[in-house]
Amino acid sequence: MSNSRRLAYLEALGVDAYVRRSLAPEPELHVPAEIALPAVAQPASVAACGPEAALDWEPLRAMVSACTRCALHQTRTQTVFGVGNVRARWMFVGEAPGAEEDRQGEPFVGRAGQLLNSMLKALGFSRGDVYIANVLKCRPPGNRDPKPEEAVQCRGYLERQIELVSPTLIVAIGRIAAQNLLATDTALARLRGRVHALGPRGWPLIVTYHPAYLLRSPGEKRKAWQDLLFAKETYRRLAAGERVPP
Ligand code: URA
Repeated sequence: MSNSRRLAYLEALGVDAYVRRSLAPEPELHVPAEIALPAVAQPASVAACGPEAALDWEPLRAMVSACTRCALHQTRTQTVFGVGNVRARWMFVGEAPGAEEDRQGEPFVGRAGQLLNSMLKALGFSRGDVYIANVLKCRPPGNRDPKPEEAVQCRGYLERQIELVSPTLIVAIGRIAAQNLLATDTALARLRGRVHALGPRGWPLIVTYHPAYLLRSPGEKRKAWQDLLFAKETYRRLAAGERVPP
């Protein structure tokens, strides 16, 4: 992507001159010292073990669309499975569908989704280059936070999606996704800037802000951009065969 187009996406992200300097002529991906923290391992499991554990994409999608494991099936318009390249190297995981996603059956298609698209474009991606899914496949009424029991019931579906995509890097979008995936209640600020190892396979995972939060708190967009640079640098190291976390 040309720098001018990338800058246009950065404009949309609300990231200004500070980033422009680092983009000339092609971004030098420095991991800022304050976020270059040691990697932490954690115990969260990603090893689907329900009946979904052995399913390929289409049966998995069919199982999700017929799911009645929790009460959310009573209020959903439809399930929101996931979208993108099933062989993507980058996987983005959000929290749960909102009203627009529930209506269209696709993750991140509302206002937050538009900002996520800008974040992807700033990284040089379109939606079709990555895989996007959520912790929950059904909309919680009134966009409330997912309940733990809902996330538990849905977990196997996401775990199987992760296994099928087999991404090089997972980006957890926002506090709820990060805390659910990592089975922690640690604050987002402390989860950012390090590479987590997800589950027994140790999928590399990094954490950034949710675009809905960035829409409410535009002053935090610079930090989100730092996260994306950190993700890009982490991906480069992983693709070069480095073990990250070490
Ligand atoms: N927020 C999310 O976390 N996921 C979506 O799909 C939409 C909004």
